[in-house]
Parts: sequence; structure tokens; C-alpha cells
Amino acid sequence: MTRVLLVQLPIPRQNFGRKTGNVPLGAACLKQAVRNFSGVTVDILPESVVSYLADAALVEAIRDRRPDVLGFTVFSWNIQRSLYVCEKIRETGRPRIVFGGPEITPDNSLPRAPQVDFRVHGEGEAVFRRLLAEPGFWANGSAAESAADIFRSAPSPYLSGWLEPEVQRLMLLETQRGCPYRCGFCYYNKSRTGLVFAEEEHLLRAVAWAVEQQIGEVYLLDPSLNARPNLRQLLAGIGRLNTEQRIGLFSEIRAEAIDEPLADLLAAAGFIWLEIGLQSTNPKALKIMNRPTRLDRFAQGAQRLKQRGITPGLDLIIGLPGDDLAGFMRSVDFVADHDLQDDVQIFPLSILPGTNFRRRHRELGLGFEAHPPYTVTATPTFAPEDFLLAYDYAETRLDTVFFPLPDLDLSWRLAGRDGPLDIRVGLGGRSYVAKLNLQGERPIAEIEGLARCLTQPYQVLVGPAMRDSAYLKKVLTVLTAANPFTPLEVVFFDPAELPAASELLAAVRLQRPHFLDGDLRFLYPKPGNRAVLFTVASGARQPRFQGEMKRQVYWWRRSELPSLEDLGEFAELDGVLIDCAVSPAEICAWQDRWGLPAAEQYHISFAEVGLQRRWLLLTCPDEYVEKVMAWQSA
Ligand code: SF4
Repeated sequence: MTRVLLVQLPIPRQNFGRKTGNVPLGAACLKQAVRNFSGVTVDILPESVVSYLADAALVEAIRDRRPDVLGFTVFSWNIQRSLYVCEKIRETGRPRIVFGGPEITPDNSLPRAPQVDFRVHGEGEAVFRRLLAEPGFWANGSAAESAADIFRSAPSPYLSGWLEPEVQRLMLLETQRGCPYRCGFCYYNKSRTGLVFAEEEHLLRAVAWAVEQQIGEVYLLDPSLNARPNLRQLLAGIGRLNTEQRIGLFSEIRAEAIDEPLADLLAAAGFIWLEIGLQSTNPKALKIMNRPTRLDRFAQGAQRLKQRGITPGLDLIIGLPGDDLAGFMRSVDFVADHDLQDDVQIFPLSILPGTNFRRRHRELGLGFEAHPPYTVTATPTFAPEDFLLAYDYAETRLDTVFFPLPDLDLSWRLAGRDGPLDIRVGLGGRSYVAKLNLQGERPIAEIEGLARCLTQPYQVLVGPAMRDSAYLKKVLTVLTAANPFTPLEVVFFDPAELPAASELLAAVRLQRPHFLDGDLRFLYPKPGNRAVLFTVASGARQPRFQGEMKRQVYWWRRSELPSLEDLGEFAELDGVLIDCAVSPAEICAWQDRWGLPAAEQYHISFAEVGLQRRWLLLTCPDEYVEKVMAWQSA
């Protein structure tokens, strides 16, 4: 029997339990493609486990399954960590390792690392079948093969129960492969020339299943929904299944294609959000990126969605060749002037492997980071400082924040339990530490053991009695050396002195640059340590510990709960930790009463972990995964 294990690592997050969007749909398609093979078992490391384990625990979870073949789906946000995990796996075993996913392109040398035996370019089903059926095929080292016939008639893998729709409350439904457009920054078409569409019968069966199972949301994974022949017929069919609008639909579409009848059909089908990439209004930039756009028709199409209660999600890109700061600002003005700012995402340009811009980067004069996510750093018309100015302008004009602080969760106490405890969660039948408690010194051997069973991310909770900074540095070295890709937060409760963050950072053994360094480089323009957050909780009212990856919170230990007015007194700090000697019922009543109005104005946390969980699920119900936040005592 050949045991195959498929793994897809998430975008790193700075709050445990936050949704990661890490749905291993590609892995499920591969499993489906070989479901009739005898002598092969294919397992997928479940989303609810793989997305929340730190590096060492993840390696252990993979080793325990003793795979003969180990497959990774790699994106810009996980390729380096995937390579690291493979390196660790190879220390004790020799499974054959195969990589597939968007990062596998001929011009990307990263996946040509020695620990990768085989690279799959483009869609994977046909190649995966050959790898499992023809042992000699591995010797090729890489392959690309169309899976159009398999894809066209394949039922959704959700129907076989291989994915966990309850984690994101979301079903991804692949309706099309390939895109009729050729935008210069995009690698979607890297290895295919034509389009292939999933059969309508299978799509409708999947939608019916989602309605029946009350999945909540269905995302039609389609780079351009309008490219589908018979789209209107498909939408009418979905509308008939979703008459009570029990599911909300999401997808991507070209706004210029939305006329009145199509907008009506989209609304009747149950669409609540559609991504309509604008990228830029600068004619020169649009021309260079090969994305002709009729701006008047774009605005009309977007308005038609809004009129029907469908949110248009707009994307803009900073740093496009041919664009400059003034041009970017005009794009932002276009969005605001047409009242389309409901949901705007702004990305710095990434010069992704396999794209036209990567091939032409010298000709276009594009400077970019050598490591993922390959962020552009300068162009002939964008100076490095323009990127932050562009974000500043967009935040002011669109009245939004593009880089919010991580959510505040300083909870540390378990109801009914005294004394300092590590706070654990159960994932995949095992117990992992999400909050490591350092009220006093613990033997380093114990810390080494804990380093092997941490969650991603994790917190180190440092109590007032912990004053030996040399010991703390040692702990941070041990934890991060075992988990070099896992973000962490170090929380100091009533410290005698303010933490020397730069000294502590010198002890941290995280991979640098970390993916989050690239992700937040415009917020903190100097090279940084954006995978480590330092927080101080104390009774100090004056801000004394703020700045790059530092925050200071007021520790509310009074006998009564605060009013909103009370919270306003700490507006200059980064939040309030509520730790009152009142009953849980009173705190629940406070949460129910103030909920969203308080959360919209202030960062608030609760000392007891169950109440903190309740608060997060109450104030950001769509952001957290209830299932993984089941706290356990040590
Ligand atoms: S950006 Fe969207 S429309 Fe352009 S090529 Fe990529 S998938 Fe197609």
C-alpha cells in the first residue's frame, strides 16, 4: 500500500483561531483523481489542523502519518516554510516529495531545492495519476499535463467529505480553468492555452449540496465568471436551487460585462459579493499590463451590482509600470467619486514568477524583493517612499485602515482553575499550547518539550515575577529555533521595566525575512521583525511602549466593569484588558450590551479565555473558527 499525504500550509496569521482561507481544494482534486486506484491511500492533512500548528508540531504530525509520498501545494506565502518542513522530514525519513501550485514555474529556482523530488507545473490531476501508476515517471523531475478531461466531468470533492466546509463556513467551487485575459502581473494562465469549464450538471449538484448542508457561502472560483458560455443558464439554475437565499455566493467578474439582465440574474442566484478588479485607471498602466478597461462601463457595471445589494469588491495595485503616485491617487479618486469604496483591497505589485512582468522586469525597470511575495520596491516612476504615501492617501480618501493591528487577545485565566497555566487547544485529537505561561522560570528542558507542541501563532505570557531577561532570551531562542516560521506574541504583565524589544529580538531565531516582513513592509519601511509582536499590559495610563510591533494596553482591574466613557480615557493606548472581579454572567451581559459599538472604537480583551473567545465570536463572527478555539487546561 502506498500512503500519500497532501499538505497545504496557510498564510501566517498573528491571532490564533483566525480564519486563514487555507482550503486544500487542489489536494482534494488530486485525491479524487486517484480514488479508484488500488494499493494507494491518499490523506489530506485537515485544514483545521494544518493551519494552526507551529513548525515543530507540524513536522511531527506529518512524521506520525509515515507517508511514502508527500505532496505540497505551494504559494508565495508558504513555499519557504514548505521547503523547511520537507528538510526536517528528510532528517528522519525518505518519503518522495512532490510540489505543485502557483509557485512552480520554470523561472522560479526556489522549488528546485534538493529536498523536492518532483515539480508539477499547472493543474495536477493527470501528472499525479502517472506518479502513482508509473514509478519510473518520478525520474523526469517535473512535468506538465492537461487535466481538462478529468476536470470537466469531476464532481466537487466536497460531496465526498474530503474537505471541512464548517471551518470557513465556505465551499469553494471550481467552475473554470484558464482565463481569456492575459494581465501582465498574473500567473493564472502560466501553463495553459485554452479554457475548460466544469459541466453545469456537476456545478448544480454541488450548489444543491451546499444549500442542503447550510454551508453558508459558496465561492465560485472563476477568474472571470463572464467568460463562461451559458453563464445566464447556470445562474438561472442556481437561482432555482437557492430560492430562499440560504447560501450567499461570491465570485470574480469583469464589471464591464454586467448589463441589467445579468445583474438581475446574479442577484436572483444569491450573489452577495463580486470581485471586480480595477487595478488602475491610468491608461498607460492599463496598456502595459494588457488590461484594456472601459472606465465608464466599469463604473456602470459596479453600480448595477450595488443597486441590487451585491457588494463590489475592488482591487487596486500600487507600483504598476507606467503608473506613478499621482496616477494611483487618481485611481483612488475614481473609486471614491463613484461611491465604490464599500470593499477595496490595495496590493503592492508582486513580480510573481511565471508572469509577463517577471519576464520583462529589466525592460520595465522593476525593482523587487528576491524572496516571496516578491514585492516591487521601486519602478522608474515610483520611488520607494511613494508606496507609503499611496497607502496614506488611500486610507484618508477611502476612510479605511489597510494595516489594522492584530486583534487583542491577552486572555490567560481559565475559569475555575487557579494558578498559572499553559492554555492549550485540541487539534486533530492532540493537545497543543497556544499560550505558554512564564510566571516564573521553568526548566529549559521543559521549554524544549513545549516548543515541540505549539500552535501557530502562539503567545508567551510573561508574569511580573519574571525579571531575568537572560532567561527570557534563552526561552525565546529555544521556542523560535524549533519554530522558525511561526509568528508569536510576547505579552508582559505589569513588567518592572519596559521590555528591551531590540535585545529580545536579537535572541529570536525566526526566518528572516519572514513572509510577514514582506507583507507589512510599507507600514514599517525599515527591515523588521514583523512576525514578533510585543505587548505590555499594565496600569500605566501614559503611552510608553508603542512603535514598530509594540503595543501597550491598560489592565482594568477595578471592581466594576468600564463604561464606554471609561474606555475613552485610554484612547491613546492600544487597548484595554478587562479583568474584573465580577461574575461571568455580568461580563456576558456587558459584552452583549456593548459588543460591536465598543469593538469598533477600542481594542478590548478579557482575562478569562472563555469570555475572550465569546467576545471574538460575538464581535467578529466571520473572522474566527469556533471549532479550533476550544481551550483546555494544562
Ligand atoms: S488577473 Fe484575472 S483577468 Fe487577468 S489574467 Fe489573471 S485571472 Fe485573468
